[in-house]
Amino acid sequence: MVSVKSKSDIEKMLEAGKIAAEALNAVEEKLRPGMTTKDIDKIVHRVITAHGAVPNFLGLYGFPASACVSVNEEVIHGIPGSRRLNEGDIVSVDLGACVKGWNSDTCYTFKVGQVSAEVEKLLRDTEQSLYEAIAAAQIGARLGDVSHTVEAYCRERGYGIVQNYCGHGIGREVHEDPEVPNHGKAGHGMRLVEGMTFCIEPMINLRGDGVHTLKNGWTVVTDSGTYSAHFEHMIAVTADGPLILTKR
Ligand code: MG
Repeated sequence: MVSVKSKSDIEKMLEAGKIAAEALNAVEEKLRPGMTTKDIDKIVHRVITAHGAVPNFLGLYGFPASACVSVNEEVIHGIPGSRRLNEGDIVSVDLGACVKGWNSDTCYTFKVGQVSAEVEKLLRDTEQSLYEAIAAAQIGARLGDVSHTVEAYCRERGYGIVQNYCGHGIGREVHEDPEVPNHGKAGHGMRLVEGMTFCIEPMINLRGDGVHTLKNGWTVVTDSGTYSAHFEHMIAVTADGPLILTKR
């Protein structure tokens, strides 16, 4: 069931969203070659708890950290650990905060130093597909319009689209209905109404759609073994248009 939020609910979610955005800002500020993915998780945990919020990924379905930290060919659900970041890597940091029972969820793929032109373009295009999809999240539009926007934008540019994982509603729970896929048909699906809150999160591969899960049961990697980018915002559908609740 899809829950519709009141203005005051959305204000609380915005509070949770701001803390998540600050955690990403802190990561970006500290990001250096030589850091481990665990170092990134520590920053995220510190920033979220310093605000009196709860890192809502920690323990979610048994996940062992406050952030999913996914490097290069890792698409999502990277477990922070001893992997060191090298110059030219990309790293997706996916996290969320819970404040007074309201959740946020956001992700950004950072460059570690200088990356190749091809990878730079993958990041730019994936992020832009997110903003195009957000713009489609208007009252009266269909969920399929949002999904199709990501798909059309990324296919046109020759990328692979991860289809086994998708965006989602959010609120009291981190994952609520509806599912928000990164592929779909325009004009199809649920009609968007004022007060819906959901996460749009394109996961886009440099080559091929295929992904698989590593033996640790969590980390999803590309079948091609090459780069994947992931950008996510939590938004609210409002009378004034889509409102980004995790803006940095
Ligand atoms: Mg999400």
